[in-house]
This record gives sequence, structure tokens and C-alpha cells, in this order.
Amino acid sequence: MDLSKKIREIQDFPKEGINFKDITTLLQDKEAFTYMVDTLAAQLKDLNVDIVVGPESRGFIVGVPVAYKIGAGFVPVRKPGKLPAEIVRYEYELEYGKDALEIHRDAIQPGQKVAIIDDLLATGGTVLATAKLIEELGGEVVSINFLIELAFLKGREKLSNYNVKTLITYH
Ligand code: AMP
Repeated sequence: MDLSKKIREIQDFPKEGINFKDITTLLQDKEAFTYMVDTLAAQLKDLNVDIVVGPESRGFIVGVPVAYKIGAGFVPVRKPGKLPAEIVRYEYELEYGKDALEIHRDAIQPGQKVAIIDDLLATGGTVLATAKLIEELGGEVVSINFLIELAFLKGREKLSNYNVKTLITYH
């Protein structure tokens, strides 16, 4: 299935110069949604993933069904101030702005195998920050999987130490 046909593009959202990739049109399509989850889950086969980590907020939407499908747990990585218990924090740069991410300190045990799943790889800042948080807790990042890659932003270079897979690439 060609999932790229299911993605809607919005010019100049949320600000001028950004060609926003809207995945809601894919998610609402039952065949496309099932295919997306099944394909991401298949990429993680044989990696013995304990935990799927998804960064807020589209990482939750894409990561949770994949975690369920492969029988892994799910851990959210969130914007500052959202997680209620003791956290670890990491600051990073976005394609549009600057931000920080947090994870619960007890969310991952040392030695656990972790896959990061997010909707889209742009500069790679979000997921690199997520990987740093996981590693600070002693987790091993065995795979990073995206639905979409904006290859021209070269996020892969930032993630060159990791096993990165994407379903749709825009050049
Ligand atoms: P980055 O940290 O630069 O890789 O940006 C990743 C996050 O920003 C992704 O998880 C997306 O949710 C969001 N994002 C960045 N650029 C776009 C875009 N062109 N269309 C949709 N979402 C985007």
C-alpha cells in the first residue's frame, strides 16, 4: 500500500515555510491505519523490544498500537510539566523552535531494549533527545522507527549511531 497518498500536506502551517505533513487523513482510513501499524510492528520483529517510547504527541498515536501489537510496554516522553512523578529532562532544538522533553525516572530499567516510534523525522532533535533520556535511564535503543522522513533535513545524520527505519520518504 502506498501510504504517502494518505498524507495531507498543508503549506505554511504552523508557520510560513513549513510544509506540514498531516497524518490524520491516514489515521482515519482503516486500511491505511492497520497497514501502518502492522508494517511498523514487522520492522521490530526479532528485536525483543521491552518498551516502545513515543514522544508527545503524535508519537503516542503511532507508538501505542505498535507496542500493543508486539507485546511491549509503552512509555510516554512528554513536554515539560506534564508527567506527575520524578522526571529526567533534556533540552533540544526543533525544526520550528526550541523545547525540552521529560521522562519518568522509573519508566525504563537498565538493560531494557527500547524502540522509539514517532510520526515524522525532521531535524532529528526530538528523537535524539528521546534517545538521550532512554540512555540516561540505562535503556538500550535498539530501533528508531518513523512513519515519515523529511530526508532533505538530514535528521538521519544526527541519528547515525542508531538503527533508523522510515516508511515514507520525502526528498
Ligand atoms: P524534529 O525534532 O525536527 O525531527 O521534529 C520532529 C517533530 O516535529 C515530529 O515529531 C513532528 O511531529 C514535528 N514536525 C516537524 N516538521 C514537521 C512537518 N513538516 N510536518 C509535520 N510535523 C512536523
